[in-house]
This record gives sequence, C-alpha cells and structure tokens, in this order.
Amino acid sequence: MKDRFDIARLDMVETQIRRRGVFSPRVLDVMALIPRQEFVPAQFRNEAYADKPLPIGEGQTISQPYMVAAMAESLELTGSERVLEIGTGSGYQAAVLSMLAREVITVESRTTLALEAQERLTDLGYANVHVHNGDGSLGFSETAPYDAILVTAAAPEIPRLLAGQLREAGRLVIPVGSQENQELVQARKTNGELKSRELFGCRFVLLLGRHGWSRPGGEPF
Ligand code: SAH
Repeated sequence: MKDRFDIARLDMVETQIRRRGVFSPRVLDVMALIPRQEFVPAQFRNEAYADKPLPIGEGQTISQPYMVAAMAESLELTGSERVLEIGTGSGYQAAVLSMLAREVITVESRTTLALEAQERLTDLGYANVHVHNGDGSLGFSETAPYDAILVTAAAPEIPRLLAGQLREAGRLVIPVGSQENQELVQARKTNGELKSRELFGCRFVLLLGRHGWSRPGGEPF
C-alpha cells in the first residue's frame, strides 16, 4: 500500500524532476525510492516533497529535490564509482549518490550535522556512505582519488586541491560564483586538467573553510 509520502514522492519525480529535463532512468528511479521525509526535521515532514530547499538547522538547508537530481545526473554515475561529496548536511544527497555509485565519502564541517547524518544513514541502511567531520574545502585526501566529486555548497572558485583528488576522466560538479548567486559548473578532468562548462544558475548556502568563503570574525565555520 502506498502512503501519502509515496504518493507525494512519485508526483515530485514527475512534475519537479522529469518534466524539467532530468531524464536519466537511474536517477529518476532512485529519487522515487528514497524517503526524503526521513531527512528533514520533524516540523517539516509534511513539506518534504515540496519544490524548495528546507531548513535542517544551524542555518543550513537540504537542497531542492530538482537540484539533488540534476546534480546527481551531471556526475554521470554508472554504479562502479567512488564519489566524494562536500557538504553532507542532512545526508539526503549522499543517500541518492549511494544508490548510483559503489561508495560515497562525504565531508561535513559542522559536527552536529555530521553526527546526525551518519546516524540517520546507518539507521536507514545506507551502508556504503561514510561521513567525515572536517573542512571539505580541502577535499578528503585520505581516500583519494575519486571518480566523481560533488560540492553542495557555494564556492568562490573551484577549490584547488579538488582537481588533484579527481581521477582522469572524472567529473566535478560545484556551484561557483558570488555569495548571492552561482552557476552550477560541471568540470571534467581531461589530460590532467579540468575542462569546465556552466549548467544553470543556482543559489546555495556557503562553502566555508580554507578554500571556501571566510567568516567575518575569521573563525573557519
Ligand atoms: N547535501 C546536503 C545539503 C548541503 S547544505 C543535503 O543533502 O542535505 C551545505 C552543507 O555544507 C552544510 O551542511 C554546511 O555545513 C556544509 N559546509 C559548508 N562549508 C563546508 C566545508 N568547508 N566542509 C564541509 N562542509 C561544509
């Protein structure tokens, strides 16, 4: 039997995602499976499938469903990849990636969010996701290189260490621009260099840290 969340989720996939041009059958199938209501705070459960980002605490957000799907599609995953995500947040995007790739390593700078996301992902059975607490603007060199890297927070430019942690022919997807407006950029490593193209305009919370934006007081996060 389908519950109200299942019905809302199928409607989300059709009206917000497929109709706007995300056609990858694997991405659409995964978006139709993952219980987004488990990744949002209790008071927002009824809005879990709404066409917008939602607050997850500490001034951060879970991205809009369309954005999650479009970013996942632009990583061009086939199932065999090791993927690095920067900005775990709720863990929802990591859950989506975990069903499209072999393994997901995700880095979150806020300790509470990192701990909550790891617990949530483990409870829900996403065993191939590993959450680390730290400054993801440095990438995560311990388990590099990666077949794909996704940054889910806005950066002033592509953090320079990330290119070195990407395998040849790997894809890097990241919102780049000002603090108010960014372009989602898809870069591909070709002959050791990143070749970038802009996908569409977007607005994300800020990537802080060493190779992100700095806070006025100078603290990293
Ligand atoms: N992908 C998330 C949404 C991310 S919101 C989801 O599916 O819910 C962006 C996240 O990036 C926030 O949680 C923020 O704390 C985190 N962040 C910002 N700067 C960071 C950095 N330098 N390293 C790691 N995470 C960072």
